[in-house]
This record gives sequence, C-alpha cells and structure tokens, in this order.
Amino acid sequence: MSKILIIEDEESIANLEKDYLELSDFEVTIANDGESGLRLALGGEFDLIVLDLMLPGVDGFEICKKVRAESEIPVIIVSARKDDIDKIRGLGLGADDYMTKPFSPSEMVARVKAHLSRYERLKSGDRPKNDIIEIRGIRIDKTARRVWVDGTEKQFTNKEFDLLTFLAENPNHVFTKEELFRKIWNMDSVGDIATVTVHIKKIREKIEFNTSKPQYIETIWGVGYRFKI
Ligand code: CA
Repeated sequence: MSKILIIEDEESIANLEKDYLELSDFEVTIANDGESGLRLALGGEFDLIVLDLMLPGVDGFEICKKVRAESEIPVIIVSARKDDIDKIRGLGLGADDYMTKPFSPSEMVARVKAHLSRYERLKSGDRPKNDIIEIRGIRIDKTARRVWVDGTEKQFTNKEFDLLTFLAENPNHVFTKEELFRKIWNMDSVGDIATVTVHIKKIREKIEFNTSKPQYIETIWGVGYRFKI
C-alpha cells in the first residue's frame, strides 16, 4: 500500500484529501505545519507528498527544495493562489505537479495515482535487464559478455565465450564437435573441428576446479560435449 504524506495547515482540506485518498486504499499521514511536514518528508517512508505552499513555520517552497535535494519522490503542490504556483514553477524547484484550490478531490486522486506509477517505473528502472545465466558457481552475463566463476571474474576470448554460453544455455544436451563448430564458427563443417577441442580445453582451465574431473563441461566419449546441470 502506498504511503502519502499531506502537508497542509487547513484541517478541513487536509481531512478531505485524506478521506479521498483512503477511499483509494492509500495510507495517509497529515502534517499540519511546515516543521513536522519537512521532518516527515525527509524521513524516507513516504511514496508521494501532497504539499500546500502557505504553511506556518517552514513554507512549501522550502520543503519542496529540501525534499528534492534528497529524493525523487513525487511532490504535488497545492496552493490557493495561482501566482504561487507560477512562482514555484519559475523557481524550478522540481515539483511534479500543481493544483489550485479549490480542486476536485477525485482529480487529485487521479494525479496521485499517475505520479505514483511513474515513480514506480523510475524506481524499478525501465532499462532492459541484463540477460544472465547462472549454473552453480558460474554466472554468465550475456549482455555484458562477462563471466564469473565462484564470484571471480574470468577473461574469455570471443569464441570461448560463445562456446561456453551456447553449452550453458543448452544444459544436458550432448553436442558433437561438428555441431559446435558449425554453431560457433558459423561455417559448414569443413574447418578444423580440433579447434573445438582446443577451445573446450581453454574454457575448462578457467571454469573447472580440476580439469581432469570436469564438473561443468563433460566429455561424452565418441560423441561430444555437454554442459552438466
Ligand atoms: Ca495553507
């Protein structure tokens, strides 16, 4: 449940906002003056702030500035005066939205919801996640083309990386050297399939604790290799 902080000195307005937000299942806390509002706002436990500008003690301008210096939490400014809103816009204090009193409570709720979902997307990071393969002690980051073995990063050539990744992506599947050669070197199997053997040996030196008793890439005699899961 998202937590909303209302900083508002007019009790009737604060309670009206609270009632509407609670109807939409938000958890609401009211601060009636600037000092307690600022303290709560900087406490880090809220997901969004509805902030009145004219407050006893610390005013909304100051609160907005201090909150913005520390976090990206959405701040919706509420003011009785249109020119205050123009002023805060002009100051570039980084409020996310502005509403002039009197406003319709249901519109406020709609704006709260819109800013919360935007903030959630921001926090979760809409950047695409790296494509990771993890098998026991091996971690392969396909996107960054990096490999860790028991927490230590190891360096692989391009073909070693491609071969290891291909086997790890198809665990328990036995591939012949010819298949691996075609797959990784992208040629018909006219090349030297001994290349596969050489690469497997190099990969094992980097990932296996004991290369004569491989735990990851097994040799299936007379057939090929498989990545054991
Ligand atoms: Ca006020």
